[in-house]
This record gives sequence, structure tokens and C-alpha cells, in this order.
Amino acid sequence: MSYDAVVVGSGPNGLAAGITLAQSGKRVLLLEARNQIGGGMRSAELTLPGYVHDVCSAIHPLAMASPFFANLRLENFGLEWIEPDFPLVHPMPDGTAAVMERDLVQSIRAFGDDGPRYQRLVEPFVQRANTLLPELLNPPWPLGDLRVLTRFAIKGLSSAVALLQKHFKSPAVQGMFAGMAAHSVKPLESRLTGAVGLLFCITAHASGWPLPRGGSHSIATALRALFESLGGEVQTDRPVSTFSDLPPCRAVLFDLAPRAVSRISEEQLPQSFKKKLERFQHGPGVFKVDWALDGPIPWTNADAGRAGTVHVGGSWEEIAESESAVWKGRISDRPFVLLAQQSLFDQTRAPDKKQTGWAYCHVPHQCDEDMTARIEAQIERFAPGFRDLILDRHVFSPSALEAYNANYIGGDITGGVISLQQLLARPALRLSPYTTPNEKIFICSASTPPGGGVHGMCGYHAARAALQRVLRD
Ligand SMILES: Cc1cc2nc3c(=O)[nH]c(=O)nc-3n(C[C@H](O)[C@H](O)[C@H](O)COP(=O)(O)OP(=O)(O)OC[C@H]3O[C@@H](n4cnc5c(N)ncnc54)[C@H](O)[C@@H]3O)c2cc1C
Repeated sequence: MSYDAVVVGSGPNGLAAGITLAQSGKRVLLLEARNQIGGGMRSAELTLPGYVHDVCSAIHPLAMASPFFANLRLENFGLEWIEPDFPLVHPMPDGTAAVMERDLVQSIRAFGDDGPRYQRLVEPFVQRANTLLPELLNPPWPLGDLRVLTRFAIKGLSSAVALLQKHFKSPAVQGMFAGMAAHSVKPLESRLTGAVGLLFCITAHASGWPLPRGGSHSIATALRALFESLGGEVQTDRPVSTFSDLPPCRAVLFDLAPRAVSRISEEQLPQSFKKKLERFQHGPGVFKVDWALDGPIPWTNADAGRAGTVHVGGSWEEIAESESAVWKGRISDRPFVLLAQQSLFDQTRAPDKKQTGWAYCHVPHQCDEDMTARIEAQIERFAPGFRDLILDRHVFSPSALEAYNANYIGGDITGGVISLQQLLARPALRLSPYTTPNEKIFICSASTPPGGGVHGMCGYHAARAALQRVLRD
């Protein structure tokens, strides 16, 4: 049996690559190492029976903003998005909170004296989000709306700390912006963290922060159904270790970390290029906890109980200290915790009157220190009584995450450090970053532009590169 293309790995990017190739009439085989497809989009009963946890991704602003996803009509394949009352609430230790509403005007009102300043910073981008977000997710960043892109670049090149100090005065709004920027997994004093903070604020208003009914695996199931409806073939339990594991094909697209591509490709790639792939830098890891809970988390601030995502960390100073410690190889006693409470909005996730909780914090690369007590203590600060609700928990250390999915090297969930260099040369400096010196081999994982998250754009662009290079007929 021979194929036009074989895609190795069934994460959002592998599936996106497969779908894009199949849409062009190509015969495509998708090989997945595990017994279930989906990569970072899997859900499972990690704790007690009846409690469905998102193993990796939970909340999907990037899927909503993705031009690739926008064209798929996945609702026809069973995907249903749920919008929580608020995309995000950022509670403070004194019981106040920055309540991020989907509606920009409501958020401006909720942010009090900082409202007009927030409006000045974010509104120009939200108004042009229809062009800005696709452009940001569409490398090599075509110069569409030059004015708004330049404005975004000027603001975004600053550090998050510079932006939040310049634009906001209230500790809750400053803390909220720091939490948004911390998705970069970088010290908040470093360049580009401003861009990540802005991006997540813009998506909260422009496209929302929804969760899929049934768990993130529903996205994978819908993508697979679409892929198969186009004639694509999926084989699970098919780990690829060497090139000889692949059936005859005209192109191979690896939804894998650069180091794995180097290892698997052996003599198919020149040593000099393999060295570049091996030098690609992976950043800090995450320590993740999932809980089966006896009831909703008892937040001191009631609005936090109406948000899909709660950023638990308080002041910007505390969050910045926690993120910077991670880069210095230290653990913060008060880690910044990113928490989702899907079952509040999706009854399929837990038995009647019970709840689930999903949270992680950043830790140094490959650091396996048990963060469970510190994460739970942080939540307890903002929700006294939380610990009493815990019926069961499941934890993922960085090495457990890497054992689960070889792409999460050292627990890095973003596919590699987001730096100026690794943004332009991701994973190596080439005119088309998805190509390699072997015209048959392509890389389509989150280690290519535009990087981590469930949006499928890396896979889409890699497939376009393969179609242009070797699958033109
Ligand atoms: C804890 C956690 C929380 C996250 N939260 C969010 C979130 O809320 N929202 C969001 O947008 N993103 C989130 N992410 C990030 C997101 O999941 C990833 O950026 C995304 O899944 C990357 O997609 P990918 O297709 O590049 O690779 P992956 O999703 O990693 O898929 C790669 C696939 O390849 C398979 N594979 C690996 N090696 C081999 C091999 N040798 N042979 C065959 N198959 C192989 C793996 O099993 C996997 O299925 C989170 C990630 C984690 C871990």
C-alpha cells in the first residue's frame, strides 16, 4: 500500500495537516503512537469513574481564533462549544477580582478607573480582530492591515511588566494582565510577553474562551470524522521510531518535536540540519493536577465561580516572581496557577452535584518536585474550604507528561521557548520553516510557526508546503 503522504502524530497539527492534504484529494495515512488519537486534545477518567478530565488542553481561545478551524464546520461532526459566563476571573487575596467579560464594554465597566485605560490599550485591536487574529496565526505574517499590525508589534515587543505598569493602576487589573502574559511561560520582564498578554485579552473579547462539550477529546473526534470523511486513514498504536516504520509515500509530515524528527530521520537528513533540530530550545515544564470534587470551588469572590478559567496568583508582583523563579531553576512557594472548572458549564464532565477541577503551574524544565500541596494551598488562599472538597486527584509531573506524549520535552507544553529567535527560526532558519533539506520530509508540530496551542495552523501550513513542494500533481 502506498500513500501520497504519511502524517506521524495525531495532535491538532497532525490532524490539520491530514485534513488539508485530504481536502486536496491526496491519499493520506495518519499514524499515532498511542491507542487514542488527539495529542493535546484528549479527555479521560483520570480520577474516579464518571469524572471526565481534560488530560492536556482545556480552554480554546486559539481554536476559536484559528482561520483553519473557522473553515471546517466541525459542528457538523458533533463538536459543540460552550461559553462560560465569563472567560476569565482574576481574584485577589482581599476578595476583589478583575472580571474579564466576553463583552468589551462590560469589561471596561468592571475594571473601574482602569476601564478607560484598558479600552485605549485593547479596543483598537478588538475592533480589527477579524483581520488581526488570523494574521497573527498565519506566518510568515503577511502585511495585511499594516497599521494595526505595527501598533500590535510596538506594544507587543514590550515586556508585560512595562505594559501593565504603564497602562494600569489597580492591583487586580495589573494582576489580570500579568496572568494573561504568563501564558508565554517566560519571565514577565522579557520582550514579547506583552504580545502574549495582549493576544489573550483580545481573544477573550473577540472570539471567546470556550470549552467543548464532553471534553477536549470531542475536538479530536470531530477532526478525525472530517478526515475520514475525506478518505483519510488513521492507525493507532503505531509508534514511529525509524524511517523503516513508514509505508511507501511521497511525503512525511512529522507532528513531533524537532529532536524526535532528527532521531527518526537518521541519515535521511544531513548532520548539520539534525544538529539545528537538536539545539532547538525547550522551556520550563508544567506540573498538573486534576481533581474530582464534592462540589463547586468555594471562591471568596463569587464571580470566580462563574468563570471557565480562573488565574490564581493575586498581584502582578507575585505572578512575576513565580514565573521568574521558574527560569532561574527555582520553585515558587506561591506558584501562579492556571485553573479551569469545566464541569460548572458542562454536565457531562461529572456525576450529579459533583465537579471537576483542572490546574497547572510552571516549574523548571524537567523538575519533578511535587507541587500538589503548593498548588492546593494557593487555591485555598482564594477559596477557603477547597481542600475539604477533594474526593480524588491525579497529578502529572513534567516527566510523566513527557512519558505520556514525547512532544512535551521536560514538561514543556508550548513546543519550544517563545523567543524572538525561535519565533523567526522555528525550528530552524529556513524560507519555509515547515520544510527540511530532504524535500520529502516536513515538520508540522507546535515547534513550527505560529507555535503552541490548539489551532491547527502549523499543520495547515506544513501541508500547504508539502502540496507545493512534492504533491503538486
Ligand atoms: C497540560 C496542558 C495544558 C494545555 N492547555 C491548553 C489549553 O487550554 N489550550 C490550548 O490551546 N492549548 C493547550 N495546551 C497546548 C496544546 O495541547 C499543544 O500546544 C498542542 O496539542 C500541540 O499540538 P501538536 O499537534 O503540535 O502536538 P501534540 O498535540 O503533542 O500531538 C502529537 C502527537 O504525536 C504522537 N506521537 C509522539 N511521538 C510519536 C511517534 N514517535 N510516533 C507516532 N506518534 C507519536 C503523540 O502521542 C501525540 O498524539 C496544553 C498542553 C498541556 C500538556
